[in-house]
Amino acid sequence: METIKKYPLLIIGAGPAGLTASIYASRYALPHLVIGEAPGGLMFEAHQICNFPTEKEITGAEITAKIQQQAESLGASLLIDQVTEISFSSPDFQVMTRQGKKLLTENILLATGTQHRQLGLPEEKKFLGRGLSYCATCDAPFYQGQTVAVIGGGDSANTASLYLAKIAKKVYQIHRRSQLTGERAWVNQVISNPQIEVIYEREVIALEGKNELQAIVLNQPYQGKEKIPLQGVFVEIGAVPRQELVAQLGLETDTQGYIKVKPDQSTSREHIWAAGDITNGSNGLRQIITACSEGAIAAYSVFNSIQKNQA
Ligand code: NAP
Repeated sequence: METIKKYPLLIIGAGPAGLTASIYASRYALPHLVIGEAPGGLMFEAHQICNFPTEKEITGAEITAKIQQQAESLGASLLIDQVTEISFSSPDFQVMTRQGKKLLTENILLATGTQHRQLGLPEEKKFLGRGLSYCATCDAPFYQGQTVAVIGGGDSANTASLYLAKIAKKVYQIHRRSQLTGERAWVNQVISNPQIEVIYEREVIALEGKNELQAIVLNQPYQGKEKIPLQGVFVEIGAVPRQELVAQLGLETDTQGYIKVKPDQSTSREHIWAAGDITNGSNGLRQIITACSEGAIAAYSVFNSIQKNQA
């Protein structure tokens, strides 16, 4: 176990919340380290973002690179690693990582975001990477000229269908409600795209195939078919907050597992702050801009708290 130096602030998570917190912390001359498994988090997977001010249209990979470059240009250190354990021994938190590093810190900003929600079907694991994907941006190119389905009815599913429609021959979008949700701009594009067929009020109840996925089964027949033969299925049914560290720290969460934060991004535990998709903040609007905003507020709050304790 290698002990590195102690930081006043450790930012865990390198998505928009964590990287923006780093930008603000650097501007406040607050020494800190950002630890993340991969820069960008789920933002990295977005193939088209059209609602971030100053960027009329940008990919998740491009905006990740821009925010990371800005953070690093201001002096941020980014450690690509995974935090596995956090313990407390007054006055510091001890943070262990998968690569065997031990870090000490007075303040932790948790910005670990969310992970893809799964369907919960028994065959889901078997077909992962064999026809089933949680990331259209990553895997769509494998389905050139083929038939695929997207499951879900929010922005993730809508943008995935639009992206896949440029590559696949036919896209079924299967949604359990009678209307698509999310940004109206995406919904209008989906329903007017001739390559996308939205199947409403149906759920996928089974995935079939020998070694590779070959068909999905719906809960009720649709236009005489209860089984749709296809080569790929993209599960785009939202996300769930990452729980491991939240549970270790014993933080108070809402019923869905999002960390309860106060307006200054503080949590139920002193010296632990949270920002981004993992919190119940920003009125539940989980967007890149709100993650950035929460990251900025958190860095400001940590700075104020340190100043107050030093006075
Ligand atoms: P979401 O808005 O929570 O939508 C999840 C969708 O999946 C809903 O249609 C939901 O249906 C459905 N669903 C949930 N569990 C299901 C299940 N077990 N089986 C079948 N369907 C299920 O999640 P999201 O679309 O991932 O969006 C998350 C956030 O990211 C939003 O703030 C969104 O704006 C943002 N986002 C933005 C972009 C972009 O602008 N480029 C792209 C992606 C995401 P019910 O309504 O019935 O629960």
